[in-house]
Amino acid sequence: MKTELSALLDDLMVKALDRRPPTKTQALELLLTSDDDLLDVVAASGRVRRHFFGNRVKLNLIINMKSGLCPEDCSYCSQRSGSKADVLKYNWIDPLVAAETADRAVASGAKRVCLVASGRGPTDRDIGRIAETVLAIKERQPHVEVCTSLGLLTKERAQRLLEIGVFAYNHNLNTSEANYGEICSTHTFADRLDTVNIARDVGLSPCSGAIFGMDESDEDIVDLAVDLRALDPDSVPVNFLIPFDGTPMGGKWQLTPQRCLRILALYRFFFPDVEIRIAGGREIHLRSLQTLGLHLANSIFVGDYLTSEGQARKLDFALIADAGFVVEGLEEVTLPSARHDLVTLRRRGPGTEMPANV
Ligand code: SF4
Repeated sequence: MKTELSALLDDLMVKALDRRPPTKTQALELLLTSDDDLLDVVAASGRVRRHFFGNRVKLNLIINMKSGLCPEDCSYCSQRSGSKADVLKYNWIDPLVAAETADRAVASGAKRVCLVASGRGPTDRDIGRIAETVLAIKERQPHVEVCTSLGLLTKERAQRLLEIGVFAYNHNLNTSEANYGEICSTHTFADRLDTVNIARDVGLSPCSGAIFGMDESDEDIVDLAVDLRALDPDSVPVNFLIPFDGTPMGGKWQLTPQRCLRILALYRFFFPDVEIRIAGGREIHLRSLQTLGLHLANSIFVGDYLTSEGQARKLDFALIADAGFVVEGLEEVTLPSARHDLVTLRRRGPGTEMPANV
């Protein structure tokens, strides 16, 4: 007779291969499994990852375009208003510096560069700066995916980003709606939903994810997965909080590597054919279990994060190779075929030699 655990994992696998999500009860049961059962959980969820993404790992690089000095008060963020964290603070970097960084990223195997700027949202002038940067990057690296993460968007600004050659827009929901008021008072969960919807509606590839380790309950983790799934994102970054000294979350170390893996396994069941990217906190929280994380996520950031440093490039490559994975090539399409039809990489209009589709 099957144990309850194997029955749960079998059902979750069958559903995921059919692109159906877990029930809320199943999701909570998965999060409650013991460390003794961890390898069974990873194996089941890892099968889903293999089914849709094989042994490919997509590499991404963050470029922090404007660091610190944010007027918003997100409690987890080292760049927040009033942050005492000793992070770099600077205004917009030169487009050429960003383009040179993108060159290095592509040479290291990255398929996507994510241009991130602190702040509530971009002004028209900021969009102009981003346009110069995207142009500089695309002239040298025409096939790299450019993502931007600039805060809250209006429809007009989202449209402008699309026109200048931006492929994806990142705006994380971060935590559940119920928990949101505990982590930020200057904007709302609804504001975040609006921006992801605006980005998707104009044709930007929606990227929206989470940060764990912020006093959230298991219910919050599951509710967030349900709300994220409703947004139908193409990519879901999973961050594990780095509790910077000088922020309200400073010193709150709430995660174990095993809990991080259970969360990743659960998110794979919720997002079977979506790019799940292990983002900030990978090295510091998964530690020696990063390898198991690759069996669940199909994408990672390489290089440094916004305000903290990532591990050395050679360690990332050793991690991937030792686990039997390969770096996804620039010419390979990340999302599985059922989603290919939904996303067409723009190869005409601004940033190309082809006329725009108007
Ligand atoms: S997460 Fe973004 S909006 Fe919030 S404080 Fe940090 S930089 Fe500002």
